[in-house]
Amino acid sequence: MTLKNRLGKFIVISGPSGVGKGTICNILLSKKENNLSYSISMTTRKKRIYEKNGVDYYFTSRDNFKKRILNNEFLEYNLYNKEYYGTLKTEVLDKINKGINVISELDVNGAKKIKNNFKDCILIYITAPNIEELRRRLIKRGTENKEEIEQRLKIAIYEEKEKINYDYVIMNDNLEIAIGKIQIIIKNFLIDK
Ligand code: 5GP
Repeated sequence: MTLKNRLGKFIVISGPSGVGKGTICNILLSKKENNLSYSISMTTRKKRIYEKNGVDYYFTSRDNFKKRILNNEFLEYNLYNKEYYGTLKTEVLDKINKGINVISELDVNGAKKIKNNFKDCILIYITAPNIEELRRRLIKRGTENKEEIEQRLKIAIYEEKEKINYDYVIMNDNLEIAIGKIQIIIKNFLIDK
């Protein structure tokens, strides 16, 4: 395959809430040699104070989200902690066809669906040393109340069981080391074969 008609590849980052997926994605996106474009998901959950609509997510109502489901606008969508999250076809397909590599943060169910639909896809799961550490990070982040944190930690226990389905599992107890490992994985994945 020549570079001209090379399709973009799909990189999926998953992991429990508070593990540092956002930070890791931002660092990977800032490295121009990766030629990565972030797939901005749509969600019905409330915007956090530091988030920007159209940058971190497309924030929308449940009605609008459901309309888009009926219009078949999602590559995949899922309920996480009673809120909808979905990958819009418009965020991915054009880029892949133009040879741009796409990176996306998805929950474990979304990751499975993408793996089934894209041949050139890699799934990377980020994990933390233990649940206590995740709790500490979520409390420090301060974006969810106590009850929401506990709900997210419950989901984390389920997610950890699903990590066996991933191509790679990376421990994020030291950000620099984790990034180094992920960068090697991505570099190898993006090399044209
Ligand atoms: P958060 O509310 O912390 O931003 O995201 C909650 C969970 O939803 C995370 O596991 C995140 O990776 C996942 N997520 C974000 N966007 C999507 C999406 O488009 N589809 C799916 N299936 N999960 C998503």
